[in-house]
Amino acid sequence: MSHEVDCCKHGKRPATLMCTHIAHAADTDNKVGFCYSGQDTQEFPDVWCSDCNSKLLKLNAWTKEMFEQASFKVLCSHCYIEIKEQQQS
Ligand SMILES: [Zn+2]
Ligand SMILES: [Zn+2]
Repeated sequence: MSHEVDCCKHGKRPATLMCTHIAHAADTDNKVGFCYSGQDTQEFPDVWCSDCNSKLLKLNAWTKEMFEQASFKVLCSHCYIEIKEQQQS
């Protein structure tokens, strides 16, 4: 099931999820990492920052607390690609 989001910049696009830290880094040009699970086979896997990733490695699972502090944001696939390029450049 892929959901769509109506992006104010790009119009109707597939919806993607990223942690709030990456979503905010996009505005400030900070490099925070771009991590996702190798088991996620979606075209646009859910992504999170290096900070979230090191917590995830310690806990070995997405706990409720982890999920709350990651506070996932929905972005359109086009925004996702832009941020991915920014983070990986
Ligand atoms: Zn994060
Ligand atoms: Zn967009």
